[in-house]
Amino acid sequence: MRCRFCSKTIHNIFIDLGSTAVSNAFLTKENLNDRECLYPLKVLVCDNCFLVQVDEYQKREEIFSPDYVYFSSVSEYWLAHSKKYVEKITPRFNLNTNSLVVEIASNDGYLLQYFQEKNIPVLGIEPTASTAQIAINKGIDTIIEFFDENLALKLSELRKADLILGNNVLAHVPDLNSFVRGLKILLKPVGVMTFEFPHLMKLIEKTEFDTIYHEHFSYFSFYFINKLFDFHGFKIFDVEQLETHGGSLRIYVKHRENENEPVLESVQQLLDTELTAGVNKISSYKGFNERANNAKYKFLSYIIGERMKGKKIIAFGAAAKGNTFLNYCGIKPDIIECVVDDTPSKQGKFLPQSHIPVVSRDYFVDNKPDIIIILPWNFKKEIIEKLAFTKSWGTQLVTYIPDIEIN
Ligand SMILES: [Zn+2]
Repeated sequence: MRCRFCSKTIHNIFIDLGSTAVSNAFLTKENLNDRECLYPLKVLVCDNCFLVQVDEYQKREEIFSPDYVYFSSVSEYWLAHSKKYVEKITPRFNLNTNSLVVEIASNDGYLLQYFQEKNIPVLGIEPTASTAQIAINKGIDTIIEFFDENLALKLSELRKADLILGNNVLAHVPDLNSFVRGLKILLKPVGVMTFEFPHLMKLIEKTEFDTIYHEHFSYFSFYFINKLFDFHGFKIFDVEQLETHGGSLRIYVKHRENENEPVLESVQQLLDTELTAGVNKISSYKGFNERANNAKYKFLSYIIGERMKGKKIIAFGAAAKGNTFLNYCGIKPDIIECVVDDTPSKQGKFLPQSHIPVVSRDYFVDNKPDIIIILPWNFKKEIIEKLAFTKSWGTQLVTYIPDIEIN
């Protein structure tokens, strides 16, 4: 295939996770017997620009179907994270009632609501109708479309943005160059942008291979993201390292000509750290697949051992990363009998490919599992607190990335 950024032919494999279902394609009882669509999940790395990218070019309409079941507002953690962001960014860039804040992939309005509380005008762009409708019902102006150059042109005829933000959206964009050209059109000359995304160097460092799934087209180092924005006439002027998703970055971006924002030391510091770690050497990307396999073998030998002792094993949190992990390990309901999840729209359904049923917390009324596997380990602390009541049963709460940890 050709690199999605620089068009060079690429062949270096970062990891091959085999054929897998789309993570959010939950099944109902009625369609359990239907044929499931599996797509190869092979991730390559370009030896010219070092963009780490998924091989297969999935139709995006299929990935974000109208009944997409991820609602950001369900997570208290995300709400608190978003509120903190709004409190920080509003004074830093003097946002006020004359500003316009545009969020790309605004989901159910989980974040824009905090700007709206401050009477700062907002516009959400969200391709998934089911989530967008919730935002619209809350009174948050939302356009149900994918963001690209064409939409940016249409929007910019009316108004341009003082702040554009996108959290965990860049990885979902199939055509990065068109997306960034759209940003160039929509942002005011003195406007700023922030983007949050999982940091590739942390993914490699901690062998977080389960954060790879079809919904993501790319995985970013700071080194690459700098190249991308620089190519399109932007400049990154600040970067923060966050704990979210096992280690994320929040970048601050401006038009190159904008003299208002000085470039802070954090930018060169992180670039230097990544260069020292070998971000621009193909050898740094080798060996990841083998480390992922080792994590899989360790988990399988642990869980099969416990199952053979007759232990009752369930999982908690029907997150996308859990699907990657379970399917890569080939786990079915004979080993993990169900997954408890607090999202009503997932309950009563079945995980794609593994067909493990998703149930509500009512499960605990009649069942006392011996082991609970925490699938969204990035919310481990929050989940262990939620499940504290199982301690009196002697239940073990287990995470598996980078190593098996029994709590
Ligand atoms: Zn490339």
